[in-house]
Amino acid sequence: MEISVIVPVFNEEENLPELTDQLISVLRPLKKSFEILFVDDGSKDRSAEILKSFSQKYPEILFIRLNRNYGQHSAILCGFHHAKGEILVTLDADLQNPPSEIPKLLKKMEEGFEVVGGYRQSRQDSILRRIPSYFVAKITSKLVQVPLKDYGCMLRAYKKSLVQAILSSEEVSTYIPALANSYASSVAEVPVLHSARRRGESKYNLLKLLHLNFDLMTSFSLLPIQLIGIAGVIISLTGILFSLFLLGMRLIKGSEWAVQGVFTLFGILFFFVGLQVLAIGMMGEYIGRIYQEVRRRPRYRIQEIVSSKREGV
Ligand code: UDP
Ligand code: MG
Repeated sequence: MEISVIVPVFNEEENLPELTDQLISVLRPLKKSFEILFVDDGSKDRSAEILKSFSQKYPEILFIRLNRNYGQHSAILCGFHHAKGEILVTLDADLQNPPSEIPKLLKKMEEGFEVVGGYRQSRQDSILRRIPSYFVAKITSKLVQVPLKDYGCMLRAYKKSLVQAILSSEEVSTYIPALANSYASSVAEVPVLHSARRRGESKYNLLKLLHLNFDLMTSFSLLPIQLIGIAGVIISLTGILFSLFLLGMRLIKGSEWAVQGVFTLFGILFFFVGLQVLAIGMMGEYIGRIYQEVRRRPRYRIQEIVSSKREGV
């Protein structure tokens, strides 16, 4: 098998027929053996039903159904696990990145890169969605030490050996593009088309996005917790200087002044208390994640696998 295309699907019933048509009509003319793995991430609509019928209609389609919603990245990992191709391509189901861009990625892969990522040329998402992405790309580039224009675009191609490395890292919180780049020896980026979502709506709300970005930050660095530490040191130093100042003023101006300073002290105290709560919260976040990792729970559970070719996989 030369190419595996992996598509995570969560409530995308309106997009699936067109997506499947486009995928098949893009991949068949390439004259390479390929498979399409649809991983249904616990959809509540008719997605699973539709995909199941497609997998019976097209021999190239493998349908995997997870028993509930585990998130886009877990769904992709499940797809990686079952893919047989030498090159693995990930693609969103919402047609924002058209399947017609896949050959472009494959062509770039032929130059010998281990990962080829798409970057969304004229990204058609709201400004509120784009600003965080800009910072995420900048920070991730620093943390992973592989500068990329776009870390959020999921239209990407990976070499099989690299995917093996990703699969062997048994982390629970994963952000695949960053994890891949941290192992890859050569990475390339090609511009890809991006359009607004025509049907259905974004599956990410603010909370899910925050969670994903925190996964990204905490799994690649200790930066957030180190920042707290540094802030702590700076604030304690300022605190000491300030106390010396208060002491000095009291000696010079007498106790009268010190009594009026009580409120200043309250101010400082609240500041410290706030900082401590923040630090505890931050540590809690890390400890929570450590707890999740040590439990070593499986990242997903498969409910069924349907394919007209690969029976009983
Ligand atoms: N998705 C998924 N599980 C989730 C959320 C999203 O499998 O919990 C899939 C979704 O069906 C789509 C892709 O991940 O194929 C990207 O989601 P979406 O387009 O909503 O993200 P956005 O484009 O807003 O970043
Ligand atoms: Mg989308």
